[in-house]
Amino acid sequence: MKDQNKLSKKFKFPLNRVDWTNTLFLLGTLIVSLTIVPFYIWQHGADWSKVDILFHSILFFFYYCFTGMSITLGYHRLFSHISFKAKWPVKLFTLVFGAAAFENSALDWSADHRRHHKHVDTDLDPYNINEGLFYAHIGWLLFKLRPIPPLNNVKDLLNDKWVVWQHNWWKPVAFFTSFVVPFALGFSYGGYEHAWAALLISGFLRIVAVQHSTFFINSFCHWIGNRPYSSHCTARDSWIMALVTFGEGYHNYHHEFQHDYRNGVKPWQFDPTKWTIWFMSLFGLTYNLRRVADANILRREFIETELKVKRQLEILSEVEISSIPQEYILNSIEYLKSSAEVIKKVTDELQAMANKKIDLSKSKFIQMRREMDVILGHIQIISQAKLKMA
Ligand SMILES: [Zn+2]
Ligand SMILES: [Zn+2]
Repeated sequence: MKDQNKLSKKFKFPLNRVDWTNTLFLLGTLIVSLTIVPFYIWQHGADWSKVDILFHSILFFFYYCFTGMSITLGYHRLFSHISFKAKWPVKLFTLVFGAAAFENSALDWSADHRRHHKHVDTDLDPYNINEGLFYAHIGWLLFKLRPIPPLNNVKDLLNDKWVVWQHNWWKPVAFFTSFVVPFALGFSYGGYEHAWAALLISGFLRIVAVQHSTFFINSFCHWIGNRPYSSHCTARDSWIMALVTFGEGYHNYHHEFQHDYRNGVKPWQFDPTKWTIWFMSLFGLTYNLRRVADANILRREFIETELKVKRQLEILSEVEISSIPQEYILNSIEYLKSSAEVIKKVTDELQAMANKKIDLSKSKFIQMRREMDVILGHIQIISQAKLKMA
């Protein structure tokens, strides 16, 4: 609630600093997608056969995945975080299709993103959520920063010839990949009618879809969801966001362990970017995949749980306990009071394992996680009881 109040903080529009190129492009593609694209489909789509519809659906789907994943897998996890290494075909592919998302060069993108991690939630964070949801989503792109921040945090990438090549040529590459190729594919499939359709659907509409899917990470992933790993920053884990961001929705984990090639670390979490990186590693296309040991991850979760317990007990100290009559709630309160010992024992054990670089066995991991789930369960019981009282 506190964070949401902060969002009402106002972003003032500095009209003298409008970045007209970005603004016109972002607005133009959005307007075309909302007007000309549906109009064209309405005008011509009635004459299309099932095969025609299938052709455009498949082209859109592949273009959406190729360009979207080039951002999450390439721009983000490979170039910004070096969370794994990749052979040149992977670099070239993600640089070409990443350019086609029209989100700047990988070098500039990484420089912004590294600043975001380093200065998250402060004025030096390029997409600071405390400036408001609109600013974090798209507003920050509409205005030029003065002075322009130097590229002093991407010196490693300046030594990568593929990254430097893309930095110099990304605009023509983006134009060719995003507009010329779909137009040509549509033309070879069915003449000018399908060429224009492919340009509109797999060009314009797809650009807007991919861009907003990236923007969601900067806005909603700092706004909705929970914080199982750290409440020190606004980043949140949300499975809904993971669905529309190729797995980047587990953003709380990502901010805590930014060099892990995974964002969704739990087996059931939807993270197609992680799966693709792992799959390519089977063929040697990606290697040196960095992952945080289970013991470290669990330790972090226990530390965060301890904070939640403390906060809960603090709130309870202000409530008259006798006004919460149910016995099972009183039991939960007692349990929370004694849970400090459980947490200390487990975190010490996990710390010792991390020091010795020993990871958890599967059964130990499950047992410890169950202990944490019991504590979180008691917190939930108390919160719900308080909600009912309110
Ligand atoms: Zn973030
Ligand atoms: Zn990141």
